[in-house]
Amino acid sequence: METKDLYKTLGVGKDASREEIRGAYRRLARKYHPDANPDDPAAEERFKEIQNAYEVLSNPERRREYDRGPETFFGQGGFRDGGRPDDLSDFADLFGNFGGFGDIFGRSTSARTNVKQRGDDVTVSVNLKFNESLNGVTTRVRVVAEEVCGDCGGSGASPGTAIRTCPDCGGRGTRSRDQGFFALSETCPRCRGEGVYVEKPCSSCAGTGRVERPRQVTVRIPAGAKDGTKVRVPGRGSAGRKGGPPGDLYVVTRVEEHPVFKRRGDDFVVEVPVSFVEAALGAEVPVPRPGGGRVRLKLPAGTQHGRQLKVRGAGAPNVKKKGQTGDLIVKVSVVVPKKLTRREREILEAFAEERDEDVREGLFREASGT
Ligand SMILES: [Zn+2]
Ligand SMILES: [Zn+2]
Repeated sequence: METKDLYKTLGVGKDASREEIRGAYRRLARKYHPDANPDDPAAEERFKEIQNAYEVLSNPERRREYDRGPETFFGQGGFRDGGRPDDLSDFADLFGNFGGFGDIFGRSTSARTNVKQRGDDVTVSVNLKFNESLNGVTTRVRVVAEEVCGDCGGSGASPGTAIRTCPDCGGRGTRSRDQGFFALSETCPRCRGEGVYVEKPCSSCAGTGRVERPRQVTVRIPAGAKDGTKVRVPGRGSAGRKGGPPGDLYVVTRVEEHPVFKRRGDDFVVEVPVSFVEAALGAEVPVPRPGGGRVRLKLPAGTQHGRQLKVRGAGAPNVKKKGQTGDLIVKVSVVVPKKLTRREREILEAFAEERDEDVREGLFREASGT
């Protein structure tokens, strides 16, 4: 297949806007249209070239492909229906782009085929170690997303074969059906609303124009991500349809459970054993810090079992509000000795005698309701 400069064919610059391309195409198509040039094979050939050039340059995705390297583009059968310049029905296909034969001279309609569609969002999950979630990490995830089929350029047609305007609906994608007094509009069953059908479906994508392909995407997980945090990677989902934008990728973090620190919002909760003497007398106790190291916590005298104390700012960073950090919540767990030496027992007995206290007095008073 020969390599032509499609921009030259339409007489526009390489940086021409879509409107300029469309305008040039309309002007030239009118001039070289076979109806206007009966029995003129040269005009017909020219018309064909204009059609091909416009087909590629009017589609942002195909235009990009072409700009990247005309050689490769043509080598892959970049023209949807190249090699059939003598088939006049192809001219109808051209006008199908505008909703039907002849519409180029005035009306502009949009068959569903021309409607841009955003690609689907894709969600994957990533497993994180505790410290990775706390400090953030750049990681690679495997994403299986739909891409435009490289063999047919997304057209769904086997390279070298034609895409034709659907004869049943004239490319509109809908048909009106008379129902007595009513005329109902229904999706064309032959082309399923696409307005076109392919002569021979591309074997790589079974005519869908799209293939699912796994790829590796690098994603930055922000510091403070927790189990279930959704990280959005714009534009890395499935490819759009008809030149529409791609969908987004969502990476959901799965964080391994930590044996000591339990997450609660941006806070961490840690249970810290404290001796009954420390709890009674008060003490300064070391507490492990999430991510490593330790902090000293002042335990007031008379601290009760189960009491919660806060170490401000020792929690997880907030993934959205920069500079905002959660707290470390210390749950005091009072430890009572399981075994006592004889001397310890004597000391505690002496303490009990000195204290002479009934700690359940209040409970029984409340229980009897007096
Ligand atoms: Zn294909
Ligand atoms: Zn149809």
